[in-house]
Amino acid sequence: MELWFTEEWLKGLRISVKVDSVVYSTQTEYQKLAIYDTKQFGRMLVLDDVIQTTECDEYIYHECLAHVPMFAHPNPENVLIVGGGDGGTLREVLRHPTVKKATLVDIDGGVIEASKRFLHQWNSGFSDPRANIIVGDGLEFVSNADSEYDVILVDATDPVGPGEVLFALDFYRSVKKALKPGGIMSAQTESPIAEPAVVKSIWDRVRSVFPIARLYTSPVPTYPGGWWSYTAGSTGPEPMVPLRKPGDDWGLKYYSPEIHERAFVLNPKMQKDIGVYDQGGDHR
Ligand code: SAM
Repeated sequence: MELWFTEEWLKGLRISVKVDSVVYSTQTEYQKLAIYDTKQFGRMLVLDDVIQTTECDEYIYHECLAHVPMFAHPNPENVLIVGGGDGGTLREVLRHPTVKKATLVDIDGGVIEASKRFLHQWNSGFSDPRANIIVGDGLEFVSNADSEYDVILVDATDPVGPGEVLFALDFYRSVKKALKPGGIMSAQTESPIAEPAVVKSIWDRVRSVFPIARLYTSPVPTYPGGWWSYTAGSTGPEPMVPLRKPGDDWGLKYYSPEIHERAFVLNPKMQKDIGVYDQGGDHR
């Protein structure tokens, strides 16, 4: 009998993925966790019936979330990842030779353990001596930090359940306080195609907290609408300008300095839906 995983993207719109085998399935303290091997997307992590990351397109999301702020910062040494228990963002951060320490705080130790056992494409960073892995609530952790991090990356689940607090105004205020002067943060901020009103409300919060706020996008075929947004907040560097470039030996598949700059170009509908009009032209 065929097995299919189905996620409800929106009311009246579902994505179904043919499952070859169930690699792992459990209920953690916080969420239902499943890892599937699938026909089209390879290995796939699902939390509470929502696709989190798949073998075939995770590189786009993780390279965009991590490398845009990392390359916009002149010298990222101390980096914090909030969420990101699969390890993909950590893997990308640790490619940067400037990084001395990368702390990852995920509320669910079950995700980290599952990644270590089954998500080999994602999990290389967990064994890096620069990685500092903490199981705990990201909001609480960030609230207790003061001028510590060069770059903060928010790799959260959607703004429902345990991830909801990671999209609140108070959280972004705490992120700003946790950054060193001249720091930069980037967060995954949902789909500008499927849920533009959600993207706008997050954008409005980030913009009200950070002196420089920029929105950028990339395709991610397995996320609702197939197109994803990231919001950068900075207290110094211009997020749109890459200051260095990746080594040829990094083996990146999506990010390049050209992609970095183009990711900030928003089409007229997105500009209008989200209310972002001022990203062109004057940043050089
Ligand atoms: N790339 C994914 C996406 O856009 O859907 C996110 C992937 S990552 C697996 C999300 C992680 O955020 C999960 O491991 C979850 O446990 C973690 N998380 C959710 N709420 C959190 C919180 N309050 N503090 C820290 N981590 C949290």
